[in-house]
Amino acid sequence: MEKKTISTHDKNFELYISASEIATRVAELGKNITKDYSDKNPILVCILNGAFVFAADLARALDIDCEISFTKLSSYSGLKSTGEVAVILGLDISVEGRHLIIVEDIVDTGITMNRFLKQVNLLKPASVEVAACFVKRDSIIDPVEIKYSGFNISDRFIIGYGLDYNGLGRNLPDVYGLKQPV
Ligand code: IMP
Ligand code: MG
Repeated sequence: MEKKTISTHDKNFELYISASEIATRVAELGKNITKDYSDKNPILVCILNGAFVFAADLARALDIDCEISFTKLSSYSGLKSTGEVAVILGLDISVEGRHLIIVEDIVDTGITMNRFLKQVNLLKPASVEVAACFVKRDSIIDPVEIKYSGFNISDRFIIGYGLDYNGLGRNLPDVYGLKQPV
């Protein structure tokens, strides 16, 4: 049984989305992608660090041939997006003419994804779509089309299922939302 509340560093968090709800939704996304990409051998491009858990589950929910590659971006410090996106680790495979599914943990302002999509499109892929486990619709500054979206969530800081608060929380199977001080 998952814990209802947890503390990480100096903050308190409460259970927000359970591992079983996530599993159900990821299975649905997997079915949709399987339908859309049969015979396309897509490359799942996992954006590290946060998307490693979602990408692992999503890949195993696909009933088609697919490849997986990793890139590392960073735009967050503590609880806020810095607005600057650093590419820490570049893609190590040729994506020209390939069908790409960019796998991201969460789209918040949309800045990270849009910067990355611009760079990826220069590499001439056959197609590019985005799969994001969580989307904060109200925080979008730079709109991005997300074909495969797991959960629309309010503008609330979350941890778990790959997402961290200053390095901690990524290994939590459930997702926890920051408790507002009362
Ligand atoms: P964006 O550029 O503002 O869309 O930020 C996207 C990145 O910020 C994601 O890939 C996450 O790594 C991180 N991020 C955004 N919201 C949260 C959150 O609530 N918890 C943990 N990380 C987050
Ligand atoms: Mg991320």
